[in-house]
Amino acid sequence: MNVQEILADPDPRNLESLISASEQLRLNNLGNEVYLRGLIEFSNRCRCDCLYCGLRKSNREIHRYHLDQEQIMELARAAQVRGLPSLALQSGEIATSREVDFVARVVETLRGESSRDGSPGLGITLSLGELSYAQYQRLFEAGAHRYLLRIESSDPQLFRSIHPSTQVYERRLECLDALKDIGYQVGTGVMIGLPGQTPEHLAADLAFFVDRDIDMLGMGPFIAHPQTPLARAVNEMMDPYTTTLKMLALARLFMPDINMVVSTALQTIDPWGLRQGLRAGGNVIMPILTPEECRPDYSLYIDKQFKSLDLLEEEAAGAGYRLAFDKWGDSHHYYRRRGLSYPDQRMPGENRAG
Ligand code: SAH
Repeated sequence: MNVQEILADPDPRNLESLISASEQLRLNNLGNEVYLRGLIEFSNRCRCDCLYCGLRKSNREIHRYHLDQEQIMELARAAQVRGLPSLALQSGEIATSREVDFVARVVETLRGESSRDGSPGLGITLSLGELSYAQYQRLFEAGAHRYLLRIESSDPQLFRSIHPSTQVYERRLECLDALKDIGYQVGTGVMIGLPGQTPEHLAADLAFFVDRDIDMLGMGPFIAHPQTPLARAVNEMMDPYTTTLKMLALARLFMPDINMVVSTALQTIDPWGLRQGLRAGGNVIMPILTPEECRPDYSLYIDKQFKSLDLLEEEAAGAGYRLAFDKWGDSHHYYRRRGLSYPDQRMPGENRAG
């Protein structure tokens, strides 16, 4: 069977053998560790109008918030006390120089404060959407070293069908190029089960990731949000849950050393999402640290799952996986493609409290 046929194949036994093959390869290559990124969704203000996303600027039904520096620092301190070695800062897209100044200051302060005890401090991933080369550079110099920007679909036509005409596919490619050129570990990804998406599109997405030699991958099922134009969109060609598991497993088989997240969206649509996502090859999770009162307003999609760190740890353990509280967990692929040895960013002593 070729990739497209695997993606279209409804037989659950074949799904299980695909997942097993991927799990075996992952255990051999990366062991049973799961890297952690404490996720701080610090703002839901957005200039974009993506047809699928609840944060789109035309959605007037959500309350807009923006955490200040001290609120973010407090979440970061609590994260470090809990033993989280890395953070991911995510927001809607603002892209003004004022906002980039703000994030740069936050990143600098986070890096400085968290490494005061001589430890490597907190690792930092950013996910702020499309910015200029100079803005990405500024944030890199401030101390961010990983960046996530999903292509959403690598097919220009499908991309166009889920974005307003002001949001341009080629621009996103330029951003991904810029991030790589600057020296970030670069992550991208797609949604699975979009209206009009076929196994052919998804097979092309996998080829796109391999082709672009990406370091990190984030893929999750599309979940319709009622306050968006795609509120009632369905894809009758595929089951988003099993198709996402297949995409994870295939991606792991093609890219043995990248970091790949088990998305919150996958965990939202099925109670076994985390366990199966880990087995299928995911090796990163992003426990949500966003303050409880803000969480309902960071509504990319509906009914987003919130799981405590303890629950995540318990579920992972149930599938035989161990959360890596003791290391940054950078992408192995990043160092390999640059001909560098993988650094030891281990936290000093027992980093875990509470
Ligand atoms: N503004 C940033 C980050 C926020 S959106 C950026 O553009 O990168 C983060 C991701 O959430 C998006 O890349 C998209 O893939 C996902 N997302 C948005 N709406 C979604 C939906 N309805 N269902 C599933 N995933 C969604």
